[in-house]
Amino acid sequence: MIPATFEYVRARSVRQAVSLLQQHAGRAKLLAGGHSLLPLMKLRLAQPEMLIDLGPVDELRGIRDEGMSLVIGALTTHDEVATSPLVREKVPLLAECAAQIGDVQVRNRGTIGGNLAHADPAADYPAAILALEAQMECEGPAGTRTVPATQWFVDLLTTALGPDEVLCRVRVPVQTEGQGWSYTKLPHPASGYSLLGVACLVTVDGGVCRDARVAVTGAGPKAVRLTKVEQALVGKRLDQAAVAEAAKLASDGLEATDDLYASAEYKRHLAVVYTKRGLLRALERAAG
Ligand SMILES: Cc1cc2nc3c(=O)[nH]c(=O)nc-3n(C[C@H](O)[C@H](O)[C@H](O)COP(=O)(O)OP(=O)(O)OC[C@H]3O[C@@H](n4cnc5c(N)ncnc54)[C@H](O)[C@@H]3O)c2cc1C
Repeated sequence: MIPATFEYVRARSVRQAVSLLQQHAGRAKLLAGGHSLLPLMKLRLAQPEMLIDLGPVDELRGIRDEGMSLVIGALTTHDEVATSPLVREKVPLLAECAAQIGDVQVRNRGTIGGNLAHADPAADYPAAILALEAQMECEGPAGTRTVPATQWFVDLLTTALGPDEVLCRVRVPVQTEGQGWSYTKLPHPASGYSLLGVACLVTVDGGVCRDARVAVTGAGPKAVRLTKVEQALVGKRLDQAAVAEAAKLASDGLEATDDLYASAEYKRHLAVVYTKRGLLRALERAAG
């Protein structure tokens, strides 16, 4: 449980962090809250020669209201997202998701940037970020670029982030009138990670579903949108029966993997149960 030796540098700016990543190609790691990286280092599953601490980089902090979207700095902790009046008012789905991450210690140290860069298959934010159609703003040697959520999660612990890029901000569209939302999960009893989690965002007008976004985390190697469920909802008058019918499709084609805690078959079952539960909660909220 003792990490291999490493050098430690406190970055002063994103530009400096990028330059250090370049200089130490593949041998340096960025450090944010340390709640995913340090356990890996203690197990020696990660052995970076250098840790670049992003802590002093103020440009990665804060939550900004830009009207149509909130811009959340990568170093914003889960607790700051969960308790921010701005996030709770404008993107309540994200606040509800953040409030369910781990425990108090994890929420006080863990950051949205670290969570999304790490892309743990059982992490919570990925489902919410997919349902909200957020965008990740990254900076690298070639400048800044924006990656939509649908292209961000590539595979197990793998994102679209380049090896010498820093995830700087997450741009999250604000929720609109008539939208109902929910984040529901079955937490692992020890860690709090999702055995399975579902994020729902439905737009209802006159009782009819105009748009539906449903995303699941915990089932397979990466979080995914449940497009068959979404298609089954759009254009329908949303009642309990329509929701139950659509939710049955949650397991249809869903890539689920066995792990130490749950079989793939059980996770597919949970996907149906939590999709139905999440959609009913979202529907209640859409109705006001
Ligand atoms: C006991 C426990 C329970 C947990 N429960 C949950 C849970 O229920 N749900 C959940 O979602 N998560 C859970 N987590 C994980 C937690 O949310 C982590 O904090 C998070 O996944 C990583 O964020 P971090 O800031 O700690 O990142 P770090 O551990 O510092 O970094 C993680 C990885 O991301 C990279 N990185 C960090 N910041 C950036 C950046 N800005 N740009 C590019 N790369 C970056 C690092 O180099 C590293 O590879 C749990 C962790 C623990 C220890």
